[in-house]
Amino acid sequence: MNQTSESDPAADIGVQADARHVAVIGAGIVGACCALALLDDGHRVTLVEPDEPGGEQAASYGNGAWFSSSSVVPMSVPGLWRKVPGYLVDRDGPLTIRPGALPSLAPWLLRFLRAGARVERVEATARALAALLHDAPARHAALAAQAGVPELVRASGQIHAFADRAAFEAEALAWRLRRDNGAQWVELDAAQLRARVPMLDSRYGFGIYIAGTAHCPDPGAYVAALVALAERRGAKRMRARALGFERRAGRLAAVRTDAGRLDCDAAVIAAGIRSAVLARAAGDTIPLASERGYHVEIADPPFTLDVPVMPADGRMANTSTRGGLRIAGQVELARTDAAPDWRRAEVLLRHAQRAYPALASIDTSRLRRWMGHRPSTPDGLPVIDASIGTRGVFHAFGHGHVGLAAAPASAELLARIVAESPGPMASALYSMRRFVAVTA
Ligand SMILES: Cc1cc2nc3c(=O)[nH]c(=O)nc-3n(C[C@H](O)[C@H](O)[C@H](O)COP(=O)(O)OP(=O)(O)OC[C@H]3O[C@@H](n4cnc5c(N)ncnc54)[C@H](O)[C@@H]3O)c2cc1C
Repeated sequence: MNQTSESDPAADIGVQADARHVAVIGAGIVGACCALALLDDGHRVTLVEPDEPGGEQAASYGNGAWFSSSSVVPMSVPGLWRKVPGYLVDRDGPLTIRPGALPSLAPWLLRFLRAGARVERVEATARALAALLHDAPARHAALAAQAGVPELVRASGQIHAFADRAAFEAEALAWRLRRDNGAQWVELDAAQLRARVPMLDSRYGFGIYIAGTAHCPDPGAYVAALVALAERRGAKRMRARALGFERRAGRLAAVRTDAGRLDCDAAVIAAGIRSAVLARAAGDTIPLASERGYHVEIADPPFTLDVPVMPADGRMANTSTRGGLRIAGQVELARTDAAPDWRRAEVLLRHAQRAYPALASIDTSRLRRWMGHRPSTPDGLPVIDASIGTRGVFHAFGHGHVGLAAAPASAELLARIVAESPGPMASALYSMRRFVAVTA
């Protein structure tokens, strides 16, 4: 076994001799939180990750950085199917589908449209998301404090900016779902919006301020800090890429990696967009597509935002980070390994320049562009469950648009499932059985 630390952490921190050894595959925000929750339960943990935790390869690095408890509205909602032809041709909209990807994406897309076909189903999805998100800011604040980086979780609230009240009311279903699931907000007229976000263009005449949410000035550093905390608590790290699983008498014996085998009693698949391949190696077919997203970060911007802002027309999260002003968004449905289409980042930049006149003539040498993969199931809910195909393997992936915020609650649930005591948060909501097709 090729590990970064040779000492026996169990001996160092006195975990029970009969503690199970759990391999956590992937050290993004979900893997990091799972490792911490499993350590809390007394397990020995090895994090298997080929790259730097929180590095640019991970969705957890480049996201919008919002810890939003009100992100309960799934992408697929009634009537969306009518817009699909437009998504195939509109180069500037917030959602595009690469026509070449249609054949391979078709089964996922059909499930995606079905998931949003009925209001009742969308309401159930929103409730299931709310169960993971409602206390996300507090959970992250506690984790950041334990990791010694309290400054990486900033209680800020969030602002949604609209052209006018009619534009807000046009999103009635989304705002009803947020309200039904606990979001509270104040309405801002044009003057109040201007007072809160003076640099916003005057064509935004109506705003919503949601209190109680938070954001992260450096999501990559935050993930790295959580992994470092896990290591201080005894987790080992194995710099390796998981390839598959070895079974003995029908249950997991080891994780196969490109650096050798890792003997373990249990393994958690938390490898973001790469999770579906590993799930298949465990015998489970789970539909997962990359909703590719982009960000543009402007170094030394002409202003900072105390409160993250989402201009509703561009559907982009605008957040001040350590790297500058981050403009994150776009959904591009394309093959996972297709090259980035940097025109998507240009669309974000153009939206931002329209939203904030001070950005109109920004020097392009100050821009950094990034593309990453939202690991998305068709219904927008993660899979947090035991594998059907291989006893001892567990799934913790598919967090789509909300993984940064939802990771701590997901990890707590995952640890309960590993302990075989799923508890009050109905685990059926996130069960793989909703898609079931067992291949081994
Ligand atoms: C543009 C954009 C904006 C977003 N905005 C927000 C937001 O504001 N708030 C929010 O809550 N969420 C947001 N999200 C979603 C969020 O970023 C993701 O849901 C979340 O980061 C997923 O975390 P993860 O740990 O599952 O995957 P990742 O962060 O992708 O981590 C997976 C890790 O697994 C590793 N890995 C891959 N294959 C293997 C293997 N075979 N063996 C071992 N390790 C492997 C990878 O190297 C990686 O480090 C956004 C996403 C995007 C793209």
